[in-house]
Amino acid sequence: MKSPHRVTIIGGGFAGLNCAQSLANDDRFSVTLIDQQNHHLFQPLLYQVATASLSAVDIARSLRAVLGKAQNVSVILDKVTDIACDKNEIITEHGSHSYDSLVIATGARTSYFGKDEWAKHTYGLKNLEDSRQIRHQVLNALERAERCDDIEEQKRLMSVAIIGGGPTGVELAGAFSDLVRRALKTDYRRIDLKDFRIVLIQSGERILKSFSEDHSAYTLERLQELGVEVILGPRVDEVKEGYLHLNDGQEIQAETLIWAAGVGASPITECLECPRDRGGRIEVEPSLAVPGHPNIFAAGDLVSLTDPDGKTVPGLAPAAMQMGKHVAKVLKEDLRLQKTRYADRYLTLRPAYRYKDKGIMAIIGKNAAVAQTGKMKLKGFPAWLAWLFIHLAFLIGFRNKLAVLLSWAFSYLFDKPAARVFSICKEDAKGEPNSGAK
Ligand SMILES: Cc1cc2nc3c(=O)[nH]c(=O)nc-3n(C[C@H](O)[C@H](O)[C@H](O)COP(=O)(O)OP(=O)(O)OC[C@H]3O[C@@H](n4cnc5c(N)ncnc54)[C@H](O)[C@@H]3O)c2cc1C
Repeated sequence: MKSPHRVTIIGGGFAGLNCAQSLANDDRFSVTLIDQQNHHLFQPLLYQVATASLSAVDIARSLRAVLGKAQNVSVILDKVTDIACDKNEIITEHGSHSYDSLVIATGARTSYFGKDEWAKHTYGLKNLEDSRQIRHQVLNALERAERCDDIEEQKRLMSVAIIGGGPTGVELAGAFSDLVRRALKTDYRRIDLKDFRIVLIQSGERILKSFSEDHSAYTLERLQELGVEVILGPRVDEVKEGYLHLNDGQEIQAETLIWAAGVGASPITECLECPRDRGGRIEVEPSLAVPGHPNIFAAGDLVSLTDPDGKTVPGLAPAAMQMGKHVAKVLKEDLRLQKTRYADRYLTLRPAYRYKDKGIMAIIGKNAAVAQTGKMKLKGFPAWLAWLFIHLAFLIGFRNKLAVLLSWAFSYLFDKPAARVFSICKEDAKGEPNSGAK
């Protein structure tokens, strides 16, 4: 019997996991999924871990558990460091793996638009460790403010500045407001959490640029009602420890600086010789194959593509899931065509990926969200309800769904977030600013 086609997938996020699941238990394929983390992470809820509404385990699920029943799929915990295309091999921190077909689905990373030195003064939000650090930083800053006698220092400790007014920035700002003004409001004796300052900085004319103007305006109004200071227009041009300078001369002192302004493709894409856009995303062929490498595919956030219908594929979870499934479809089609009279031109017959737009949504705070899909636009409570249901539906694993549902119900009814516990490490005890920032 012919040995199965070896597919290696790098990354167990939305794209990689959907690709592996679509090939699961198909004995024509032997699949190896490699991820540097042992879990699949539901990134859309990361901000809730950062703001103490959910615990990290609620939004992540072990990749082995998800793929445990897929007999032809092996999971390997390792970091891919290089791709040797000439040998059909990938190099990892702990060894190497040969493949017949390779799927790169390593997602995006936080991008500082060439100012990488800003990373050490700000927190990004891409993985569980980032969200844990933000939560730790903010809760610890409140503890330090509570025992501080200097009013100016207290103000600084009780300030968060978020750079970037896209969905992540908006959701973080709204959730911090809910945290300090509702959930924690009676917990401290020496500081008044009404004084907690949340600043959201967006260089353009409006927040939530990818939404309608009406939704942007509604979101701005709701955030202002929640006590968030929104600065529209100027750009951040200098970042130091606990300090931001904007190009209109404004200065902001804040103990916690969060960078939610940009993403670029994961660095592994640099191992390949292929066309890339300014963000480093691979400009793939319509089938999602990497140009010049017919047996290598890319899927998810690291892809730059305008589909045959003229739609630019966004960096969103539904697009990544669809792309992961599409690559599996192409791999199956390749095998089928190779047994027919079209074997010599199967590469030209690969189906093109078409993005099915599922819409966009962002939550602003309790009972407030915006959502749009096609011509339908929702805002306020209906959008908030839709947001809750859709996020629950897409969360992987029954245990996670139940845990998140219970946490949300508890927070909604009693205004008490679930995940307020953090532990003190030596640097925090010294009270060093931004001890956790990377
Ligand atoms: C804070 C935040 C909020 C978001 N909110 C929404 C939302 O509300 N709705 C929405 O649709 N989308 C949202 N997104 C975007 C969505 O999460 C992404 O589009 C989606 O995760 C992309 O899937 P992916 O598979 O391409 O990458 P990812 O899900 O990022 O998965 C990449 C995987 O690759 C692994 N990996 C990376 N490099 C290596 C390596 N060298 N070796 C081995 N493994 C590696 C990573 O560990 C990770 O598991 C949000 C993203 C963030 C960060």
